[in-house]
Parts: sequence; structure tokens; C-alpha cells
Amino acid sequence: MLLIRDVDSILTLDAGRRILERHSVLIDEGKILRVGDAATLDRDHLDTVRNAGNVIEGAGCVVLPAWVNTHVHTVEHLSRGLIPDDLATFDWASRYATPFCASLTEDEAYISARLACLEMIANGTGTFVDCNVLASLGHLDAVAQAVEESGMRAVLGRGVTDILPPAKQTMPDALKAAVWHPSTEAALAEVDALLSRGTERAKGRIRLWASIYGLMFFTSDALFRGIRELADRHGAPVAFHIASSREEAALSESRTGGWPIGHLDRLDVLREDMLLTHCTLVTDEEVSRLADRGTKVAYCPGAALRLAKGTTRVGKIPEMLDAGVTVSLGADGVSSSGTFDPLRLAYLAAGLFKDSRMDPTMVPAETALEMITIEGAKAVLAEDSLGSIEEGKRADLTLYDTGGPEWAPGHDVVRTLVYSVDGRSVRTVVVDGVVIHDNGHSTRFDERDVIDAAREAGARIASRLGLDLRARWPLRAKGETSNSRWLEDSRGIRGLGG
Ligand SMILES: [Zn+2]
Repeated sequence: MLLIRDVDSILTLDAGRRILERHSVLIDEGKILRVGDAATLDRDHLDTVRNAGNVIEGAGCVVLPAWVNTHVHTVEHLSRGLIPDDLATFDWASRYATPFCASLTEDEAYISARLACLEMIANGTGTFVDCNVLASLGHLDAVAQAVEESGMRAVLGRGVTDILPPAKQTMPDALKAAVWHPSTEAALAEVDALLSRGTERAKGRIRLWASIYGLMFFTSDALFRGIRELADRHGAPVAFHIASSREEAALSESRTGGWPIGHLDRLDVLREDMLLTHCTLVTDEEVSRLADRGTKVAYCPGAALRLAKGTTRVGKIPEMLDAGVTVSLGADGVSSSGTFDPLRLAYLAAGLFKDSRMDPTMVPAETALEMITIEGAKAVLAEDSLGSIEEGKRADLTLYDTGGPEWAPGHDVVRTLVYSVDGRSVRTVVVDGVVIHDNGHSTRFDERDVIDAAREAGARIASRLGLDLRARWPLRAKGETSNSRWLEDSRGIRGLGG
């Protein structure tokens, strides 16, 4: 048993969006057993829990449902800081991100995923979606191993493709083989093999979905249809990237006569059990289709900004919200976005459309907070068990220490969270009733070991691929006198072309 007692404020995110002051949460066998005022729960349970459980004092804390981050690439984590920030989506992926991620060994995928989990937990995240594991099922097993050790909850899947665009055809054969299947059947067979091994691991904390990498560049209509059929056969939901960029919209126009979401609807693959990432380039008509079909969206504001996707120019997130589409938030990869703090994503979601529409009523702070809690839970089809603090739900909670200056004076806790707070004040994270982060540190990982292994592996991979940092500022090592290491003429990954 675990009692989180006498909390300053519990943001329940329940149907009434109640904020409970001086209340406690009693947890047993991974579930929230009771939520009630502190005095009552003390009277009924404190002695029992002190004798045979764990008591966490909640005074000076705000408690929320652990964040749900609905789009992540854990195998990208070792590329942090490597990729220049002057590339749009297609060049960014073709020249850097895809070759980098495809080149990882299974052990390096494990090291990368451990780092990603450590960072996500430190920012208060309980659940994430990574349906983009490149390379092989062995790599996916390595990521799952890291998730299992972390204590987190995750939705995992393979990011298969069946079209290799010309820009990627210059990749070495081994890397090509890792990110591309020579036929639709081969791509589907690999996902089929994954799901045939079962759609749950780690006692249900890990779920396997039918996924493809997506985007019109990399996916034939046969693969869009095939993954839908495969998902229905296994009773698994579907996830992939779509409608990500201007380049993809243009390709879709030339291939189908319209933009991607409308095309997917004509292929009759949009359903309620589908989570689509980005959805930046969508028409009003397509927003209606998403709403009609109940299809969920993982919006990645950080990646939209860094990769110049046009979210503030053409994005339809306010229209999706008005139409009743489930819009959740994703960090995307560490090299396409950079931040793995859901509060930073919520801040972007709340702010971007206020500014771009010059209308401060766009995406209130409360809506942004829902996107990383209850709407995130809906996006992973787990609203019955996650996303709010209610009796009977799984015990996934995050405690923030409100002692720091960014919390004071804290008139409204929601606005304070979304506009001022970040992961530095995360004190404790509980997933499935287990404390996986406490007093600001992981209880599951040797943090130094995870970070040191990541630094060593990141350097090794960059050197193995001949990666060029293309730093714009001169870097001088100790004793060096010239600017010889300033690589101003470099062109991404050497030998891969640009
Ligand atoms: Zn992505």
C-alpha cells in the first residue's frame, strides 16, 4: 500500500476537473483505491500503511496524473545536438536522422531508450508512445527491455516502410535494409510477426501496436490498407506519421489529387483506434473527417517549430479542438524537437495559436494541460485506466515540489504549471503504484551509468558514420591555436550526399 497524504492540491482531471486541497490518495496493487480528505484517510488507513506500506508526505506538493507523451522516437536520443537546425523535415530525415537511427546496434538502441526513459521520468512522464522503432524486431525488444527496467508505461511499434525515396537510395545497403522493406508484404510480415508474439508485455505496462513509419514519401496505398487489416486481425490500434510537411502535401497532391488525410479516408482506413502524428497540413474538410471517424492526433509543437512545418501558418489545432478531435501532445525525437518536458509542449500548444491568430482565447491553459493528461490517455485508448486521478484507475501520478520561486505565489495552479513550471520541480513519479522517481532521482536506474553509456555510445556512432557536426562556431580544443576544426563547408553525413 502507498498513501500520498495531505497534498496541497490534487489536480484530478476527472470529469468535473476538480482540484482537491488537503486531500490524500490511497494506492494498492497498482490502482487508486481511495481519494479523500486527508483527515478521513488518515483515520481509516494511516496506521495500516505505516506498518505495512509507504507514506509519501504531500504537503508542499501538487499532484497530477503522470504525463502522457504520445509521440517519441527513443532511438533518436543519442543524436541530441548533432543535427543542424536549418533543415526542413525531408532533408533532416534523409541526411541525418534516418541514417543515424538505422545504424544503431541493438545494444545502442537499449542505451538510447534508457536515456530517453530517464529523461521522460525526470520530467514527470508516466506513459509514452514510440511506434517508430527502426531497424528490426531485435531493436524493438531492446527498447522494450529499457522500458521494462524503467518502470514506465509505453506503447511500442515498428516503423516499417515500403517506398525508398531517391534521396535515401544513396544510403549504404546495410542502412537501407534497416529502414526499408523491399515489398509491402515483407513490411507487413514483420509487423505481423511482432503482434503474433502478443500485444502486451511487462504485465500490461507495454502494449504493442500495429504501426508503420507513415508519410506519403515512404508508404504505398497497399501498406496503408494492409496495416489497417493487420491491426483489425490482431485487435491492435494503429499509429503512424502523416500530413507532416509542405513537401508531403505536394507529393500527395501529385500522387492522389489531394492531401494525405482525405486520401486515407478514401482508402477507408481512418478509425477510432488510430493515432496520427503531426497532421499539420489538413483542410477544414479533413478536420471534419478526423472528427467523424474518431481518429486521434499526436501534435508535436516542438518539432513543428524546429523543422519549420508551418503549424502557426496553416495548422488547424484550434479547429480540431472545436470539432471534438482528440488532440494529444508528443515530444517527437530529441533531434527534431529537443524538449522532453510535457509542460514545455503544453506551453507551446497554449501560446502558438494565441499569437498566430492574434486571439488570446485560443487553446486555454486548461486545454493544454488536458492534452498531456486525459486527452493523452484517450489517444492511447486508455482513458478508462489512465489520464486522471480517480478511484479504480491505475496509479500513475506525478508530484511537483512547489517550494521553488517559479511556483510562487501560485494564484492559479493550472496557469502556473503551463506558463511557469518545468521539470526541475518534479519530486516523485509513481507508475502502476510503484515509485520510479523520488526526491528528484530515479529509483530504477543508476543515473550516472545511463548518462555515461549514452555519451560514449553517441560519440562512437557519430565517429562510425563519419558524421559531421557542422558547428557554426569555432571549437578549440586545449592547446589548439587555429580554427581548423570549424567545419563550415560540410554537408551532413559524408558519403550520403545532400
Ligand atoms: Zn516522429
